Amino acid sequence: MAELLVYSEKIATARELVAGGRQIAAALGLGVSAAALGPGAGAAASELAAAGADTVYVSEDAALEGWPADTVAAALVQIAVPAGAAIVLVGSTRRGKETAPRLAQRLGAGCVTDVNALSVEGDDVVAARYAFGGATVAREKVTTPVKVFAVMPKTFSAEGATSGAGRVETPTLTLESKVRVLDRRAREGDQVNLDAAPRIVGVGRGFIAREDLALGEQLAGALDAVVGCTKSLADFEWLGEDRIIGLSGAKTAPDLYIGVGVSGQIQHTVGVAGAKLIAAVNKDKEAPIFGMADYGLVGDLYEVVPALVERLKSV
Ligand SMILES: Cc1cc2nc3c(=O)[nH]c(=O)nc-3n(C[C@H](O)[C@H](O)[C@H](O)COP(=O)(O)OP(=O)(O)OC[C@H]3O[C@@H](n4cnc5c(N)ncnc54)[C@H](O)[C@@H]3O)c2cc1C
Repeated sequence: MAELLVYSEKIATARELVAGGRQIAAALGLGVSAAALGPGAGAAASELAAAGADTVYVSEDAALEGWPADTVAAALVQIAVPAGAAIVLVGSTRRGKETAPRLAQRLGAGCVTDVNALSVEGDDVVAARYAFGGATVAREKVTTPVKVFAVMPKTFSAEGATSGAGRVETPTLTLESKVRVLDRRAREGDQVNLDAAPRIVGVGRGFIAREDLALGEQLAGALDAVVGCTKSLADFEWLGEDRIIGLSGAKTAPDLYIGVGVSGQIQHTVGVAGAKLIAAVNKDKEAPIFGMADYGLVGDLYEVVPALVERLKSV
């Protein structure tokens, strides 16, 4: 039976892809397999089986340490070809976006990256992705026999997944890399994981000066939330790139997102569309963010935020 093969170096994303891939595979009559790669990857095998993989291919080859894109692509091609993979889903993470086209080139396959929805229409798989800076959604089909899709994290949910047969195979892979890692350094500054944050305060250009962001921090503190930002503030270097929400940053799905001094341009809001509750503070009642907010507060953030913080402290 032909296969739908799933891979991401992030286990949470891999589980989502297996669960979502299973529905696509069922519609097309394919089996579902997953690849777990890199030192320690064996531990992921049972999680991927529980998420729906019938076969999990595991390689802990040391050459896969740090998931170099060319080596991972070489590993995946050596798994995909013998498995008869007709469709490969790769997590569209930073690494995944580098890996997917390299894999596609080796497989002679067409490739779509940044996919945020996948559906089966007849015998075709149709991928949706934002185009023209997020202004529109492009729907794309791949016409080669083997197809590679790099799918955004959180496109599918791993909740309620049906367990697969969960056979584990350890293929012998021939791996080498043209890239040699000379040094690894941790990024400076504090790190945040917006993907997993249950509450987010999104700050934007409504803040006049960098030090005023202390107000956003206070609001986040009162809500036990994490501060994320629009790209504008990262461009000013007021906050790090890992705080950007949107097309160029994190696609979040918190229980609460509150945008403060954020206009709500589509390139930002695609990163909060998965939020369960959206609130906004903006002095312009016509700001686009109010079009998607469940609760909107029209007012000057320099007055509203301190009042909100006081109120939250008293409850
Ligand atoms: C290819 C591409 C990719 C992009 N990717 C991203 C991305 O991933 N993430 C992202 O965020 N952006 C992205 N952008 C940029 C995006 O288009 C917007 O420019 C950006 O999101 C706007 O940021 P902002 O809301 O902070 O600023 P603005 O649009 O300038 O909005 C500031 C808002 O603050 C309000 N305001 C001002 N003063 C106050 C006050 N005192 N109190 C209350 N409200 C006030 C204003 O009314 C206004 O609505 C991208 C753009 C392109 C072209």
